[in-house]
Amino acid sequence: MSNLLERFCRYVKVETTADENSTTYPSTPGQRELGALLAAELKEMGLEAHQDEHAVVIATLPGNVEGAPTIAWLAHVDTSPEAPGKGVNPQVVEYKGGDLTLKSGLVIPGEDLDGYAGKTLVTTDGTTLLGADDKSGVAVIMTAVERLLADPDRPRCPVRVIFTCDEEIGRGTDKLDIEAIDAVCAYTLDGESEGLIENETFSADVAVVKVKGRNIHPGLAYGKMVNAIRGAAKFLEQLPPQLSPECTKDKEAFLHPYVLEGGVAEVGLRILLRSFHTPELKELADVLHAAAETTMKEIVGVTVEVNIQEQYRNMAEYLAKEPRAVALAEKAYQKVGMEPVFKSIRGGTDGSRLSELGLPTPNLSTGMHNFHCEAEFACLDEMETAVSVLLELVTLWSAER
Ligand SMILES: [Zn+2]
Repeated sequence: MSNLLERFCRYVKVETTADENSTTYPSTPGQRELGALLAAELKEMGLEAHQDEHAVVIATLPGNVEGAPTIAWLAHVDTSPEAPGKGVNPQVVEYKGGDLTLKSGLVIPGEDLDGYAGKTLVTTDGTTLLGADDKSGVAVIMTAVERLLADPDRPRCPVRVIFTCDEEIGRGTDKLDIEAIDAVCAYTLDGESEGLIENETFSADVAVVKVKGRNIHPGLAYGKMVNAIRGAAKFLEQLPPQLSPECTKDKEAFLHPYVLEGGVAEVGLRILLRSFHTPELKELADVLHAAAETTMKEIVGVTVEVNIQEQYRNMAEYLAKEPRAVALAEKAYQKVGMEPVFKSIRGGTDGSRLSELGLPTPNLSTGMHNFHCEAEFACLDEMETAVSVLLELVTLWSAER
């Protein structure tokens, strides 16, 4: 078994499911456990490594070229709460083609596996997720460090290795100290498949909408009651259906109501505003403000407040400040014989937040597929490519100043 495969199969067995309802950091104890294991393994390899009080692991692989800038590699140890993460039982499969039936009887359809015949896959037994999101990234980074240490003649820049927690519940960067990372740029190893450079994300705002009415006993309601539920319905009815996530793709923007709660007196709504083009968020907000106005006009007595809050901005805006981050990643792929594909993420990543905070951070592929469900799998060959890309990347950066 290769070191990479061995590491990966070991890491996925540690239960690190993130828990949105937890108020601790990290949200679950398994994340601290896996972080401690990784810090210990890095120390064993001879790196200066430590796990801080938030369970975040930071280590430094020294460079061997005078004056080369420091870069960072990041992966998250937590896994998605959308499928069980306890008792992960990884299965190594030499895939021959066709449907793949897992131990539990669950089938990964052949169409999900197109092009993978002859490759080594790691699947679950069908009862849990695999956690390749993002333990493939963790294993790829650990293996790259190991191989760089075993090959001191390969020129390399210094690398900060960082393992974060609770990315899956949007808290991945909460406890990161950008100053301490002290790098010119970073790469998250948290991308699907192979050969992708994700260098663009949505720009995102959220609208917190309050629809207020007046409640009174329905028996006494004549001429007095103002029903906020009817107000909310009127408001929502005005959002163009073609602007929804279910009717948009690629670079198209959307408005997405995702929370509705309340009663006659008051209804609260939360609506996501998403666009790759930041100024377009204003146009989406205008749609909401217009809907509020119309609602108040048509349902007498109801008030609608729309409060727009900024969430994150398209990573591309910040990556432009350090063009080498993406350019050298592209070169690294070419060095391993691959023409990378640039991809826009219809969502955010830890990288969008880090880029915004001043650490330009594109996302690279690590061979994960079908993540966040029991049909998740990883491709070992693609993980190997990701390791090779990291080795090329540090050599390319070692020539920079
Ligand atoms: Zn991930």
